[in-house]
Amino acid sequence: MSSEASPILLFSDYHTHPQGHRVQHYTQALLQPWADSARRLGLNDIAFTDHDRYHAGIDFDEINRLRERNPDLQIRAGIELDNDPIHSPAGRKWIEKHWDELDFVLGSVHFLDRPDQMFDSVPDGAAQFDDKNIDGLYTDYFRRLRELVATGLVDCLAHFDLIKIHGHRPTSGIGTLVSETLEFIRVRNLAIELSTAGWRKPVNELYPSDSILELAMEKGIPLTTASDAHSHVQLGENFANLAHKMAQLGIRQVCIFEKHKRAEVPLQL
Ligand SMILES: [Zn+2]
Ligand SMILES: [Zn+2]
Repeated sequence: MSSEASPILLFSDYHTHPQGHRVQHYTQALLQPWADSARRLGLNDIAFTDHDRYHAGIDFDEINRLRERNPDLQIRAGIELDNDPIHSPAGRKWIEKHWDELDFVLGSVHFLDRPDQMFDSVPDGAAQFDDKNIDGLYTDYFRRLRELVATGLVDCLAHFDLIKIHGHRPTSGIGTLVSETLEFIRVRNLAIELSTAGWRKPVNELYPSDSILELAMEKGIPLTTASDAHSHVQLGENFANLAHKMAQLGIRQVCIFEKHKRAEVPLQL
């Protein structure tokens, strides 16, 4: 086997944005290309997780119709709950109202001090790091992540160390900060995702980094696989690299969700 070969088969992508970055009402025309991409890639379990500020576009009837049209796929109804100070209060209410219809809720910190700009906007968000104490920003980010966990409204944390996106690194060790945050997640029995999105960002690294991932594994925190695709052509992006890394680290199972109920699935060689 060449070193490029993927030794394990990934089958699930639990972070996708059919609407992209605007409200687009769910229709079969919008959603079917995602099912087609999944099938082509050999993925049989995908979750739609549009940002909560676009919740008006989500239509559970259309998701059900898509399920009927694609019985070979598991299609999960999900959402990504941000810490958007302007829109997420309404998003939280919507999630509470539709909790029983949702399979899966991702939790994400995209906002630091500026209420009008996601810090992970590329390249504009990098300006939020100018002249700032980077250790302070990391501390603030993980504090906000714990606040989001404490809402009790999320099943899984997205891109756990997104704060590194533009390549800023803390000067002192953040082991304790990370460890405490992971412990917070473990105690609440939540999952985190392995997100290939970091490989297409300036930091060019998996979310989370190897050291964080090893700590999460030690704690037995369950993992999902995710691309954070904003177009169906990004679905499962870099999954061969991810599979390779998972094999190196000895990760042999991932978790899936149905109506917020988690199951661990062994990966096939
Ligand atoms: Zn996100
Ligand atoms: Zn996302």
